[in-house]
Amino acid sequence: MASLTQASIRAAELRKLLNKAGHAYYVLDSPVMKDAIYDSLYKELLDLERQYPSIISSDSPSQRLGGLPAKDFKSSKHRIPLLSLDNAFNLLELKAWHSRIHKLLESDQSIKRRDRYLEMVGELKIDGNALALSYSEGVLTKAATRGDGSEGEEITANVRTIPSIPLCLQIKNPPPWLEVRGEAFIPNTSFAAINKDRDLKGENQFANPRNACAGTLRQLDPKVVASRNLDFFAYSVHLPREWINQSNSLSNPKEQWEALKWLQKVGFKVNPNNELLKSVDEVERFFEKWESKRQKLPYETDGVVIKLNDFSQQQEAGFTQKAPRWAIALKYPAEEAPSKLIKLTYQIGRTGVVTPVAEFEPVALAGTSVSRATLHNANRLVAIDLHGGDTIVVRKAGEIIPEVVRVLKELRPINAKPLELPEYCPECQTKLSRSDTEAATRCMNTSCPAILRGALRHWVSKSALNVEGLGSKLITQLVEQGLVKSIANIYELNAERLAKLERMGIKSAKKLIIALTESKKQSWSRQLYGLGIQHVGEANAKALAKAFPSVNELAEKACQSPELTKPIHGIGDEIANSLKNWFSNPINQKLITDLKRVGFSLEATEEERKIIDEQINKGESLAHGKIFVITGTLSSFSRNEAKTLIENAGGKVTSSISANTTFLIAGEKAGNKLKKAIALNIKILNEFELKQLLST
Ligand code: NAD
Repeated sequence: MASLTQASIRAAELRKLLNKAGHAYYVLDSPVMKDAIYDSLYKELLDLERQYPSIISSDSPSQRLGGLPAKDFKSSKHRIPLLSLDNAFNLLELKAWHSRIHKLLESDQSIKRRDRYLEMVGELKIDGNALALSYSEGVLTKAATRGDGSEGEEITANVRTIPSIPLCLQIKNPPPWLEVRGEAFIPNTSFAAINKDRDLKGENQFANPRNACAGTLRQLDPKVVASRNLDFFAYSVHLPREWINQSNSLSNPKEQWEALKWLQKVGFKVNPNNELLKSVDEVERFFEKWESKRQKLPYETDGVVIKLNDFSQQQEAGFTQKAPRWAIALKYPAEEAPSKLIKLTYQIGRTGVVTPVAEFEPVALAGTSVSRATLHNANRLVAIDLHGGDTIVVRKAGEIIPEVVRVLKELRPINAKPLELPEYCPECQTKLSRSDTEAATRCMNTSCPAILRGALRHWVSKSALNVEGLGSKLITQLVEQGLVKSIANIYELNAERLAKLERMGIKSAKKLIIALTESKKQSWSRQLYGLGIQHVGEANAKALAKAFPSVNELAEKACQSPELTKPIHGIGDEIANSLKNWFSNPINQKLITDLKRVGFSLEATEEERKIIDEQINKGESLAHGKIFVITGTLSSFSRNEAKTLIENAGGKVTSSISANTTFLIAGEKAGNKLKKAIALNIKILNEFELKQLLST
């Protein structure tokens, strides 16, 4: 826990940064950071202020809502404050909100009698801008933004151009006044068109549809607003207390669900995906259902809003200074979050490359807790200008490995020192080397224990020799105790010796010996991949194994001239040179001899050769030479099966989308990769189309 002084310094830094971000966001419609980063830093400030109330100052963003009205528009006082929403960032926080409300309303007997205890309405949280629409005698007379919650900007002329906002309500004898609230938003297609247009005109692009919407609503020329296809979903109505319309049986709704129906009846567009929810479990299902489905909606959503259904319960629960207690926004997991750097460590890979790794305070990202992220290389370290104690922004999108995106320099501690790669290998103390041609810094000591551990981990991995029971901890023991000095050595271990190692017994030792013996039957391409030759990934190992059915043939061609391996699909200069270097190194030549000695043939079996011949005779499929990326859940085969099928047909499967990708295979719940593929105009195939392609 931070001391009062530490908390007060940090809070001052956070206030300064958040106020700057808030101004850029609310007033300039041009955010300087992602919402998730803002939310997380804001939460940190709230936590500090909760811990030490004496540090709260009047300029804290916690003391006011939104931004000040822009000077270009008349300000408009809201009849009823237009507040924000409190956030829950996971289901646990949602449950805590639910229990709080439960407790708060426990004493309300009338509610219990009605047997409607804590019925809720689940709505999508549309990522747009709140509007307050005032109708006099059923006619739209004023439209205002939320502003600071008590006063917004009057933007009636602009709002009149939004086609889904009725200028006149379908009520026969309308009340003298009524106010409708809802969210104005820009559909995704219009957003893309606006940004494209701005790009052509050399203007700054909007960061997201919400900022584009806010910027549009603040246009001085309503014609510009009309051209931007704004849309509107209504979600609440305020009516004079006792108003009942005799002529068409419209009366004051008594619950949110009724209010939504009411709004539809009088002519508003209401989001069709709202649901009446009776329990926290139902809320959970609603939230999870829309987590994937929302990607297909034509507008942006950033969560769901859960509201108590019964208005008398809402009244009972009341409001805080900034938000109603009876509602909560449950936000979808962020892909970016800030965290505090604890230390920088270094990982030495199986090829000797030194990768700086940032270790930081755990943060929830894309649904998982993350506390380490790679920084790739020394260049990256310099580029982001990392200092000790920095607050960093970490990113993890979907299945992508977490990375440090940038540093929030505004929050840097005084006297913080820049962090650099070490001069000597932290494992074996050899001086590290850095060539001019590549960004990587390497440990060149082939007997460095870290390199050996990496090579062993790679050899036994699922995609290589797939040896079960030989995990990282056991590998570390084997290397530390000097029992293993090369990959071949693991095949010379005996069960009795293995059984003496930590967390091993004779039973698991015997099992491991069997797994090791079995691994000798793995295909030649897996063995080749397992050798861990730089740049030879799974797909290239398969292509090489097909063209050179034995290690002798491959080594001979690779060493004679790199050109001889290049006609193989996917093999360019880099791989050809890497093969030459690898096979010319006496340490690797000894490894080949040793592997043969312990029982590896290092060549294709009769069976493998037959399959290769069949493929050659069959001719090339349409997938041949194409680059595929697979995303989402496939229903008729696993991703690995799809990968094998594509590779057998001569295609290559990579993990990330780039301009070189030929096809994206998109299954259920496809997310960011799908978006990126659309943006890059890459052909998207479903499973059925993939099967067709593979069969041609
Ligand atoms: P909010 O957007 O988190 O939630 C409240 C708003 O949700 C309401 O005002 C309403 O407009 C909207 N909403 C959408 N669907 C709704 C529904 N069905 N029912 C009720 N309301 C619905 O809160 P906020 O106060 O508008 O803005 C705070 C947010 O702004 C923060 O979460 C932050 O991410 C963002 N922000 C970002 C920066 C930045 O620099 N990126 C700066 C300041 C604020």
